[in-house]
Amino acid sequence: MKMRHPLLFFLILGVHSISSAGQIDVVINPGMNWELRDEARTKFNHSLENERLRLLKNIPDLDFPKAFESVKAGIPQYMSADSPQFRNRKAACSFLEKMRKNLEPNKRPEMDSLTKSGKICIQADLPQAEQLEWTQNFARLIWNAKWIAWKNEILSLQSYLEKTIGDTHSFVTPQISIMKKGSFDGWGIAQSKKDLDFFASIAPIKKAFAAAADFDPNNPNTFDRLGSEFKKFIEEDPFNAANLLIGQPTIYLSNGWPPNAMVELLAHEYGHIYRRRESQHYSGNKKQLEWLNDEVHEEAAAESFAWMTLAPLYDIYPEIEIFHISKLIFMNQFSPNNFHYIGAAGFQDVFYTSKMGQFDELRVFDSAPDLLTYLSERKISSLKSQGARQKRTVRAVF
Ligand SMILES: [Zn+2]
Repeated sequence: MKMRHPLLFFLILGVHSISSAGQIDVVINPGMNWELRDEARTKFNHSLENERLRLLKNIPDLDFPKAFESVKAGIPQYMSADSPQFRNRKAACSFLEKMRKNLEPNKRPEMDSLTKSGKICIQADLPQAEQLEWTQNFARLIWNAKWIAWKNEILSLQSYLEKTIGDTHSFVTPQISIMKKGSFDGWGIAQSKKDLDFFASIAPIKKAFAAAADFDPNNPNTFDRLGSEFKKFIEEDPFNAANLLIGQPTIYLSNGWPPNAMVELLAHEYGHIYRRRESQHYSGNKKQLEWLNDEVHEEAAAESFAWMTLAPLYDIYPEIEIFHISKLIFMNQFSPNNFHYIGAAGFQDVFYTSKMGQFDELRVFDSAPDLLTYLSERKISSLKSQGARQKRTVRAVF
């Protein structure tokens, strides 16, 4: 058919594209405001200080102050290995020496090439252009290579975590990537089978996720698949958006963590994945998808996971504990309501036991009311809910 009028052609095309497009409102529900009781903060800080003193006694020349000097632009200078204020290079080197000692022989050439046979311990030992790749390779080596001597076996971090928990049905191998932009952070991302089945059952949600299939929080060229409003949401917080848009289990770490910190961070982020694989975070219908992401609750579970799994290793690798304790002391000082700190302090009674049955409970409940029931049943009164936080709605067009 010959088009007689170009305007008519564009009108027809326009109507067609509108009728084939879809949209859905994504409601981001950050869950509850939680308050930590003063007694719980005091008690938790006291236990952190006891751990700090114990570590100092075991490693007398460690630089591990009771309080930190300053925080600049939200980045904990003390903990960032590419910051001039970073002070525990020695702990990173000491950790790497121990890691090398039990490392499976076929991975030794890779480790020796990354550390230039012991000369490189942290990112800042390298030119800036090489740091990001180094972090990525190291994080993957820590995760995949066997280096942890545990109960007559040599295990990788992943197999160690699986053995410690003793339940393999929800374990998966995550992708590990380094954040090219964004805050000093880490993310553990996964959707549960319940969530994926739910997405698949509602046509517009299924379509929206298909449209976002190539989304990569490290690549701004992929931010605009779901329309301008959603693009703005992604630009503000691409790794949080990844939490919503990426189906397969993924761990993102920002660049700059020393290797001993990476162990704790990887375990923490895997704690998120472990929990998220079993719980349900979404509800909704054809017009609206609600995402419940109660952050204190999530961080409490991830902190508990990291503590309970790694604590048995802390006598062998105090460098990992040094980072974990530093992180919490730092948060209490500069970010007293940080979800990690509140979650860890609120769950101290769970946190300092290694009864895995208790951790198992942490991953199964889905919502804030379930958490409240759990806290009251366990007579944990350190955390109090203070009502719902403000929801936000973002429209996705596809
Ligand atoms: Zn976390």
